[in-house]
Amino acid sequence: MEENTNKTVSVKERKVKGRVEIDIQRCKGCELCTTACKEHALALSDTINIKGYRYIIANNDVCTGCVNCALVCPDAVITVYRTHPKKKPVDITPENIKEQIQSMISPSK
Ligand code: SF4
Ligand code: SF4
Repeated sequence: MEENTNKTVSVKERKVKGRVEIDIQRCKGCELCTTACKEHALALSDTINIKGYRYIIANNDVCTGCVNCALVCPDAVITVYRTHPKKKPVDITPENIKEQIQSMISPSK
């Protein structure tokens, strides 16, 4: 019997990665975001913030940037950033810099 070795998509293979920033002093530790995160990227801290609440800390290594946590947070203290690690960097040289700037200003042309 053959075993399927391609079951999971590793973090490295993901097209989009996420990075979460939390305003920890405004977090009230309600944990709505930890429930909403399917990647288990969020957890309560061991320490408390200025309001006396345990706040949320993020493991950005497993974050996919799905934005669920930011949507459910009643206090809007979560900001999610997305990155595209496999996207090719734009090659800007002194020869093509004019064209590159032009394509950034008007990408459809
Ligand atoms: S949902 Fe918002 S306020 Fe509640 S624990 Fe998460 S970050 Fe903190
Ligand atoms: S953006 Fe998605 S994967 Fe990342 S921490 Fe929030 S809910 Fe989890």
